[in-house]
Amino acid sequence: MAERLIALVDHRTAPLPAPQAGSRAPAGTLRDARGRPLRDLRISVTDRCNFRCNYCMPKEVFGSEYAWLPHGALLSFEEITRVARLFVAHGVKKLRLTGGEPLLRKGIETLIGQLAALRTPGGGKPEITLTTNGSLLARMAQALKNAGLDRVTVSLDALQDDMFRHMNGVDFPVAEVLAGIAAARQAGLTPVKVNMVVQRGVNDGQIVPMAEHFRGSGVTLRFIEYMDVGATNGWRMEQVLPGAEVIALLQTRFPLLPLDPTAPGETAERWGYAGADGRHDPALGEVGVIQSVTQAFCGDCNRARLSMDGKLFLCLFAGQGYDLRALLREGREDAEIEAALAAIWQGRNDRYSELRASLPPEAARAMRRVEMSYIGG
Ligand code: SF4
Repeated sequence: MAERLIALVDHRTAPLPAPQAGSRAPAGTLRDARGRPLRDLRISVTDRCNFRCNYCMPKEVFGSEYAWLPHGALLSFEEITRVARLFVAHGVKKLRLTGGEPLLRKGIETLIGQLAALRTPGGGKPEITLTTNGSLLARMAQALKNAGLDRVTVSLDALQDDMFRHMNGVDFPVAEVLAGIAAARQAGLTPVKVNMVVQRGVNDGQIVPMAEHFRGSGVTLRFIEYMDVGATNGWRMEQVLPGAEVIALLQTRFPLLPLDPTAPGETAERWGYAGADGRHDPALGEVGVIQSVTQAFCGDCNRARLSMDGKLFLCLFAGQGYDLRALLREGREDAEIEAALAAIWQGRNDRYSELRASLPPEAARAMRRVEMSYIGG
């Protein structure tokens, strides 16, 4: 295994001050400097996880000595809900709870209940989703549904038990994650989506077995290109298996047809399983490829990310976030926070994935990118 470069950069410090805009925020949906509407808010509710996946939370960095954030540094449920309410007032239609592992945050059902009570300016309920490693899902699925969660996405990088146990870094059995997926379907947290991060030479041999397992099951499987998120996973381009190669591989086993996106800014390219008549058979379902490296989708990226300690990040590959927690804890009025939010989003021009290929490798490696475990995928 090649020597891994581990740059110890702690993004939990040095936040950018949120702008003290005196003026009021414009009503309705905010658009950034590239005209992209604010539509999705990803909320990381904890920096902790019970897995140690090497591309996200390598043991070498997130070991027993690692200084986790103290509870007081985390946004409270009331603070999260207040921020979410202001985002929903300005265009957000989907709230995704992430982490770390969000189901480790004690009382998360209470937070979900608070978020489920929010309403868009048009009176609709924002969709509430959650991304989990599935380890706690079997016992929590029904309670999450009862609290108001709409659906879940489960990260699963292999079906072969010994490989999965190795990849999650804590010897956790795949059967329990599969039981969690079944419980989520049983509880009605549907459609359940499964995300597999594909690393060439590591788990690409699992692509066809995973597709065979979930085809016709009602679960949508997505293959994610391995990304240079953060600064601790030692990412190299040669470890990336392009989405186009994944689809070509699957086509040797199953006939697939391209499908239209379901919503603007959707990250996955959808492919439907063809039935005997050569047309898409919804009963067989679909797969997706998320190609941030080889097919950048920054053009309609409408996602904002809130860290568990209240920093607003405008891109998965950002270097710094804006400190909204300071405004909350200084007792600022809603209008002041909305004005700051508007100034931040309207000034947004992020498009790292579009720029990645043109960056000299050493420049890309030197960039202080925030850790995925800090702001959620
Ligand atoms: S690289 Fe940044 S701007 Fe581009 S799609 Fe990803 S999060 Fe959005």
